This record gives sequence, structure tokens and C-alpha cells, in this order.
Amino acid sequence: MQTQPKTLTEAIRYYSNQQTCIDAVAYLRWPDGKPVCPKCNTVEGERKHYWLNTQKRWKCYSCRKQFSVKVGSVFEDSALSLDIWLIALWMLCNCKNGVSSYEIGRATGIAQKSAWFVLQRLRLVLKDVQPVPMGAGEANPVEMDECFIGGKPKNMHRSRRLKLKLGTNGYAEKTAVFGMLERGSRQVRATVIPNVKRETLQKKILENVGFGVECPACFVPVAKRELDKESVWDEGRSTSLSRW
Ligand SMILES: [Zn+2]
Repeated sequence: MQTQPKTLTEAIRYYSNQQTCIDAVAYLRWPDGKPVCPKCNTVEGERKHYWLNTQKRWKCYSCRKQFSVKVGSVFEDSALSLDIWLIALWMLCNCKNGVSSYEIGRATGIAQKSAWFVLQRLRLVLKDVQPVPMGAGEANPVEMDECFIGGKPKNMHRSRRLKLKLGTNGYAEKTAVFGMLERGSRQVRATVIPNVKRETLQKKILENVGFGVECPACFVPVAKRELDKESVWDEGRSTSLSRW
């Protein structure tokens, strides 16, 4: 996957080719280009699995069973074609302000309910992906901020408020979210954190930001510029609360 589509139109055109989709998924699953048989776990080594071009499947040289790129992946058991999954994945990864199932539905022509299912599964998969460090340093700074997401106690039903032991003014039950924005690439990461204590935040920063030669202890917040607040947090709040 050398040429990544930059816009949604490009992505739709790019993934309209079945072979491109298979190659893209194969690359995501086996970055070294060696498919593994999901039935017997035989790794392609000196001997290669047979590629059945008309059926768009491999045939394992060891157990002789056939497998498609979908078998054993999140796309298995789905009637939706790969291009829809990949367009949804592209939108999920590239729309900075988040993407709703309605938008995916409109872009791909599938029902909103199916799009919601697609998004749920993709999010589950992305959750386990080990993050690549974001670039730090003077040339490529990373902005960070935390915020609280959750309903106001005064809008809750009385029974729920009693259950959470809240008054009408408490904020104790809101969820703390920590966000990071790489200023150069406009890449955003947000993660739920148990609290906003210094140690918690520092741990998240060390997990996500590559420091290079700079010492993490020298990390000084740049001015009081809040993480593109209006565009990230406010959008995130509205979409996450209403549709996600
Ligand atoms: Zn096999």
C-alpha cells in the first residue's frame, strides 16, 4: 500500500477494485507479505500457498484447504464487501472530528444500522493496535489536553442520580478523556483515562509521544493553547454523545 488515498472520493475510487481491497487487507494482516493459513497456521515460507486467481483465494500447500483474506479476520461472517469495510475504516481513521454511522451509510450506501455494526467492530480492532509514537520536538509539536465527557446530573433521571449518589451539581461521574494532536499531520488521538493526575497523564504521554533526544522531564506546555478545542472536543462531544 504505497499510495494511500487522500480524500474520500479517492478512497471510494481506490477501493472499487476488488484486488486492491484484497491486497490492502492482506497487507494489514500480514505486513511481511506472507499469508498464514487460518486453518492449520502454516506460514508461507520457501513454499508458497497457491493463489487461485478466479476465486480470489489461497489454497494452503500444507492442509490443502482454501482460505480467503477475510477468514479469521474481523471481516469474516460479514455479507458486506471489503470495499465498504475499507472505506469505513478509511473514514474512521481520517475524519478528525469523528465519523458517525449515518455518514458511513450515506457514503457507502449501506443502512445506518449496518454502518453502526461496522464501526463498532472496527473500533474494537483499532483499540488493540499498538500506537506508533507521534512526532515531538520543536519541528513537530504535539498538543495535549484533557476534558470531561458525560451527562449533567441535573438532566439525569432521579433514580439514576440516586444510584450514582449525585446531587444536581456534581461532576464526579463524568469520564476523563485525554487527547493529543500532532500539529504537523493533524493526527488526533483520544483515550479514556481513570483520572487526570500527573502520573496518569505522564504515562499516556510516554506511551504515545516519541521524544527523540529530548528529555521528557523538559516537557513544558506551550502557551495555553488548548488542543484545537472548538474543533476536536466540541465535535467529539456532540457526536460521541448523540450517535456513537
Ligand atoms: Zn493450512
